[in-house]
Amino acid sequence: MTVSTRPGPAELLLGSDPQRRLHTLLTLVGWLTCFVMACAQHAAAMLGLADEAHTSRLAVFSLVGATLFYLLMRSGLAPRLASDAALSWLQASWALVSISWAYAVSGPARGAAVVLLVLMPLFGIFTLTPRQTRLMALTSFLAITLVVVWKTQSEPLRYDPRVELMHLIFAAIVMSVSTVLATLIGRLKRQSQRERAELASALERIQALATKDELTGLTNRRAAGEQLRRAARDPGAPLCVAMIDLDRFKQVNDSRGHAVGDEVLRHFARVARETVRAEDMLARWGGEEFLLLMPATTPEQALAVLARLRARLHAAPLAAAGPGYVVTFSAGIAACGDAADADLDAAIARADAAMYRAKHEGRDRALLEPAPA
Ligand code: GH3
Ligand code: MG
Ligand code: MG
Repeated sequence: MTVSTRPGPAELLLGSDPQRRLHTLLTLVGWLTCFVMACAQHAAAMLGLADEAHTSRLAVFSLVGATLFYLLMRSGLAPRLASDAALSWLQASWALVSISWAYAVSGPARGAAVVLLVLMPLFGIFTLTPRQTRLMALTSFLAITLVVVWKTQSEPLRYDPRVELMHLIFAAIVMSVSTVLATLIGRLKRQSQRERAELASALERIQALATKDELTGLTNRRAAGEQLRRAARDPGAPLCVAMIDLDRFKQVNDSRGHAVGDEVLRHFARVARETVRAEDMLARWGGEEFLLLMPATTPEQALAVLARLRARLHAAPLAAAGPGYVVTFSAGIAACGDAADADLDAAIARADAAMYRAKHEGRDRALLEPAPA
């Protein structure tokens, strides 16, 4: 049976990529702002406060722009075309033209357009740095100042310089306050992002510490125990376990020192990890003892894996441990056909016994422990 998951309205509007949803939502909020602004402008024209032809052109400009930004973001095209900051600047410039235009054509109601400037730094919180937000606020203020100067020069009777000065003073106040607030909110946002990233990396480190052997990077004994229990619960999967013990390892420690001994362990772990499959579990079981769990593997295949490992170790001598020094190991393999907790423990015990037999028979070999009749 296939379960069909139909996207909800939020997913249809904003898409499913969690990274882009917020930015798409911002363009949608921008679109709604334009729509409400166009309605207000239309009302102003109906009331005889503004010129209808001008406000209609402005409504088309702002709504077409807002729709384009939304579609670019929703389709995923925008992030491929430009960076977040570049796109924010483009949107801010377009919004600034809209607000300045609104100021120029709103007649006596133009003071209301100043209020819209508050929104500029607020939108910047999400994509701009505090410096960029400040620069954007300053640019916006200069743009509105230019419009005011132009209007007072060209239509001094309709644009009383004293009233315009008051507009500019209020624009400076609201923009300064909203920039300060946007900077503070942006700082809080970045702090929480940093803390979240630190927490995630701390969690990753703790997880690695809890599950990995520090020296070799292999699965540690505790995590191996959990994986073994999980494997045991998987019914009927035939698997093999191998207990591997490095040969005469103590001699390396005694003759070359503990640090070289450690290097031998790391070298063995590296070669072994490269030899086994990704789905096999290789764990450091004790000092120089390793446990290899091979799911869906016959005893013959397990023997072949260990033969391959032996060949690879022979092909990669470790000079640091002595001229031509080759890591050799003794291993015992046991199959576990019918999975159950007791069986897997018993298989490990049999693999251990086979490993000791390999030691007694002269080392540098892998032996198979037959399953009990
Ligand atoms: P055999 O062939 O019979 O296995 O001989 P062996 O020398 O390998 O075995 P033995 O058990 O006598 O010695 C194992 C040594 O491994 C003793 C111990 O000091 C050393 N060892 C255990 N853990 C570490 C480790 O993390 N680093 C180093 N350098 N040595 C370790
Ligand atoms: Mg040992
Ligand atoms: Mg040993």
